[in-house]
Amino acid sequence: MDVLERAKEIEAQGDRVVHFEVGEPDLPTPRIICDEAIKSIRKGDTKYTSSLGIPELREAISSDYRENYGVEVSPGTVIVTMGSSPALFLAMASLLNPGDEVIITDPHYACYPQIIKIAGGVAKPVRIYEEEGFQIDLNRMKKAISRRTKAILINSPSNPTGVILEPDLMREISDLGLYIISDEIYHGLVYDGVLHSAYEFTDKAFVVNGFSKLYSMTGWRLGYLIVPPDFVRPIQKLQQNLFISPNSFVQRAGVVALHSAKPKVKGIVQLFSERRNRMIGGLRELGFEIRYEPRGAFYLFVNTEKLGNSSYRLAFDILEDVHVAVTPGIDFGLGGEGYLRFSYANSSKNIDEGIRRLGVYIDRRFKGV
Ligand code: PMP
Repeated sequence: MDVLERAKEIEAQGDRVVHFEVGEPDLPTPRIICDEAIKSIRKGDTKYTSSLGIPELREAISSDYRENYGVEVSPGTVIVTMGSSPALFLAMASLLNPGDEVIITDPHYACYPQIIKIAGGVAKPVRIYEEEGFQIDLNRMKKAISRRTKAILINSPSNPTGVILEPDLMREISDLGLYIISDEIYHGLVYDGVLHSAYEFTDKAFVVNGFSKLYSMTGWRLGYLIVPPDFVRPIQKLQQNLFISPNSFVQRAGVVALHSAKPKVKGIVQLFSERRNRMIGGLRELGFEIRYEPRGAFYLFVNTEKLGNSSYRLAFDILEDVHVAVTPGIDFGLGGEGYLRFSYANSSKNIDEGIRRLGVYIDRRFKGV
């Protein structure tokens, strides 16, 4: 956020910034989804809905999981939320007692430790390494388990690494018998390999997902949770007290997204795949070593130790010097230090321009990587 705010200041002075720091698709929400929201508002669909979400959307989500992963999800265990962020919070708040531990990877999505902390829990990071393809090492994870461990939080495809978890590993993690909180917000955005849902491996899963990324709907605030049946009522009570219900017409648009926007989304995934290759190629030409090629989401997590050991300082130096905004790896935990995260949710033209500017920066400061 500091990088983004400084980038906005630079832009306010009339200079152009290339944005590789943003965690949202640059593309507009597909037209068919927008039209449905407008139609719903006009029809007067502007009141509170059931706190768990409208039945049509809960059923559509259940069918989506059946089609994609062959799992039977009862619509009764689907809870619609205002984005996957509230879904993560509701999962943690319903599950954790004060002091309960949740295992996360390091690096990890920046908000996880905060959400766990607000819910009274403690995040226990387990390091993952680029040399190991950013996969979770099961033994390292087992060592982090204590009497207080309640759950393991996984995120595949991952922010910031773009890694997708191998199904065998997901099974082994599930077999540890703890609750699995599976953040599947980047599902669908996969360019190489097959995605699996935690729900395939265990019923003790809290599946978190939403419409922000795959459907370019970040500002709509629409997400959901699939939970073990015992947790539906406690989460419903939390939702009633905190949020009352998800947005009415936005849920209608969500039904159309799941039923009718698939062909459009297929094109978006193809486009991201091309951009990914473009960015990997461009950074390699500059001399960056990319040992792990991300297979999903829209991020590249690039080792930049040769350019200095403070990713925060480096990100600001690049921003000030050549007006390219990137995210410092330290945002994603201590294990992210020495890395920068590049988002390729940007046009080919901007990717090329950003890489060109980075080349200027490196030549000026370091005479090559
Ligand atoms: N999980 C991960 C891993 C994310 O990267 C993000 C957004 N950056 C979210 C959850 C939250 O997304 P939203 O609340 O828009 O659904």
